[in-house]
Amino acid sequence: MNPNKKSVFRLINTSDQNWSDWHWQFKNRITKPGILANLLHEPAEKREELQRAATVYPLAITPYYFSLINHTNENDPIKKQCFPDLLEILQTCTPEDPLEEDSHMPVPKLVHRYPDRCLAIVTEICATYCRHCNRKRFWSSSPQISMKTRLTNMIRYISASPQIREVIISGGDPLTLEDHVLEELLVSLRSIPHVEVLRIGSRAPVVMPMRITKDLCRILKRARPLWFNTQFNHPHEITPDSARACNMLLEAGIPVSNQSVLLGGINDSTEVMKNLLYGLQNISVRPYYLFHCDPAKGCEHFRTDVKTGMGMMENIWRQCSGLSLPQYVLDVPGSTGKIPLNVMSRAIKKDLQKHQHFFDKFK
Ligand code: SF4
Repeated sequence: MNPNKKSVFRLINTSDQNWSDWHWQFKNRITKPGILANLLHEPAEKREELQRAATVYPLAITPYYFSLINHTNENDPIKKQCFPDLLEILQTCTPEDPLEEDSHMPVPKLVHRYPDRCLAIVTEICATYCRHCNRKRFWSSSPQISMKTRLTNMIRYISASPQIREVIISGGDPLTLEDHVLEELLVSLRSIPHVEVLRIGSRAPVVMPMRITKDLCRILKRARPLWFNTQFNHPHEITPDSARACNMLLEAGIPVSNQSVLLGGINDSTEVMKNLLYGLQNISVRPYYLFHCDPAKGCEHFRTDVKTGMGMMENIWRQCSGLSLPQYVLDVPGSTGKIPLNVMSRAIKKDLQKHQHFFDKFK
C-alpha cells in the first residue's frame, strides 16, 4: 500500500474491502475545506483560502484520488487538479458557459449543437470535482426537476429527432449514477431505432476506478456499440487500479479513449505529455483528443497559449509513434465544433521548406 493511501486509510479507519467499494469511496469523499485543511495541517490563512474558493466552486475528492497526491510537492499535479484555489474566484472576465451550451438545450440539460449527435448531461455530480472543469457552473445548481422527468424528457426529444444517430452521455459524471438508473437509460436509448451509437464520458477510471465493476461492465456490454471516453491528464493518474478499470471495460468489448485537457503547470511540457501518452498506450487506452483549455470562468489560471501547445505537440509528433498521438483541438461555440490545431501542417510546412529539393523531383 502506498504511504499516502495508508495515511488516508488510517485517518478514516477503513478496511481494504471498503477501500475497493465505490459506494464507500463516494460516500467518504472529502467535501469540507476544514477536513481537507486538517488532513494537510494547513495554516489558518490557507484554510480561509480553501474555504473561500470552495464556497463558490464546491470541493469533492475521493479518498482514492487523494491518495495519489505527493504531499511533499507543492505543485503536485493531482493536487492542482482537485484542490480549491483562490485563483478560481479572482477572475471575472471569462464566461461561465464558453461553449454556449445553455443556448442549445431544446430540453433541460440536453445539448444539441450538431445535427447528428447530442450530449445528455444526466447529472451535475462528480466523484471528484476537477478545478479545470468547463461545466463547473453546474456544481452548485440544484436540479429543477426530478431525475426521472429529466431523463424522460431527453428520451422523448431524442426519439422525435431522427437526425440524431449518436448520444453522448455525460455530466457531471454519469458513473455517479446507480447501475439500475444507468441501465434503464441505456436500454431506453437502445430502443430508439435511429440511435446507432452511444458514448459515455466519465472520469471514473481516473478518480474512482473501483466504480468499474463486473456488473457495470455487463450493463455497458449489452448497450454496445458503446464508446467510453475518459480523461487522464497526467502520468501519475495511471495506476494499477486505473489500469485494471480500463482493462475491464476493454475486456467487455468497450473501446476506451482518452480526452486530456492541456493544463498549465500540469501537463504542458513535452516530457510529461510524452509519459502520459506512452502510459495510455501501455494500458491500451487510445489517446483521442488533447483539448485546449476552454476560457471558462474559474479556469483561466490553467490556460496556456496555443503556441505553447502546438510547440509541445510538434515535439511529440517528431518523437513519438503515430499511435500515441491525440488530436490537439480547440472547441468553439456553435456548430463549428472542434477546430484541429494543425500541428502537422505547421511541422510539415517547415519540413517542406527544408526538403524542397526532394519534393521538386516529383513536380
Ligand atoms: S469529472 Fe468531468 S464533469 Fe466532473 S468535474 Fe471533472 S471534468 Fe468536470
